[in-house]
Amino acid sequence: MSRRKDLKNTLLRHLLLCGQATRPELVAMTKIRAATVFEAIDELKAAGIIGEPERRGKKTGRRAPVLCCMPDCCHTIGMELHLSGCTGVITDTAGKVIHCVEHPAGERSSLLEVKREIFEVLQYLRDMADENWHLIRGIGFADPGLVDIERCISIKAVNIPPWRMVETGKMLESASGLPAGVWPEAMVKTRMEYLQRLPDAPESIFNLVTDDGIGGGFIKKGELFVGSSGRAMEIGHIVVRPNGARCQCGNCGCLESVASPAGLAEKIAESRAAGVDLGGLPENFSMETFVEFASGNRGGRIIADELCRDLAYALSVTVMLLNPEMIVISGKFASLGNFLTDALRRELELRCFPEAVRELKIEISSLNSSDTARSAAMMMRDRILLGD
Ligand SMILES: [Zn+2]
Repeated sequence: MSRRKDLKNTLLRHLLLCGQATRPELVAMTKIRAATVFEAIDELKAAGIIGEPERRGKKTGRRAPVLCCMPDCCHTIGMELHLSGCTGVITDTAGKVIHCVEHPAGERSSLLEVKREIFEVLQYLRDMADENWHLIRGIGFADPGLVDIERCISIKAVNIPPWRMVETGKMLESASGLPAGVWPEAMVKTRMEYLQRLPDAPESIFNLVTDDGIGGGFIKKGELFVGSSGRAMEIGHIVVRPNGARCQCGNCGCLESVASPAGLAEKIAESRAAGVDLGGLPENFSMETFVEFASGNRGGRIIADELCRDLAYALSVTVMLLNPEMIVISGKFASLGNFLTDALRRELELRCFPEAVRELKIEISSLNSSDTARSAAMMMRDRILLGD
């Protein structure tokens, strides 16, 4: 990349992350001489990518005018395929949601049915965008399973069995005429956890994603770590009980097979079958019900403690290897709240170096139901504008 292009990317990345900045702020940030920075700013302005809204009117004589990205220069679509349906959004250049649709999951007994859900969401967004459809420049897709990021192929999603070996990128491109990017949902969620905490985001965040499976994501200084073949942070497949239940990956005792929401349900069924008194816990319990139940029932308490220990074991590996500033718990276990974060801290204190745990923040995610699709849209925006 040429030096000028490099500088323009640095300026644009800063504006996309921070929303706005003045010329002096950008000069200070780049540590490059002002005239060179101003030339790059003018080129971005001429291309219609950034603007100086305050300069349009009369000069006020106040502080330096602010620069920001033009809201309509890059609209993108974000989609998330998940267990309970498919969510779609259209966002503007700043990542603001303009339209949103949540489509409930249908039968999903064949690949065709899953694809139909995605196409229906796409059609709804096209209808909503209407005459502004031409502003949309790409589609970002948050995939529920294993992904070949480079080739935009969905390899396998445990919870949506027909969703395997799908050329998702090509499928979206031929349905919309737009370029598409495909990323694993854990990675997409992790990026949003970071963005939501700006401007005071921690330097590094490990995100434990607990939906029916268990995944993870790691972001440092705004950069996601994906590993050399895109398979990093598969915390769900760390073996926590060598003789534990068989995991869908073929191994035994993976975190995902013993301590995922599905693993928890299995543990409870096993305990019931062994005659443990779990009276009072309904068949289809929520996480909140489970926590309340476990606080007053010995059998429930033992299962809850085991669950926390298994999660902490896998997380201790993460803490020892990555030394993150923050761990975020997202997905279904997020509703275990302080019960889980307190237990994790206690366990991590026993397993890790004190220096790595003392300053470690453990938080519960506060992403809403459309934030993952929104994050996918913003990742596609960055690929288009910055070449990420
Ligand atoms: Zn496994």
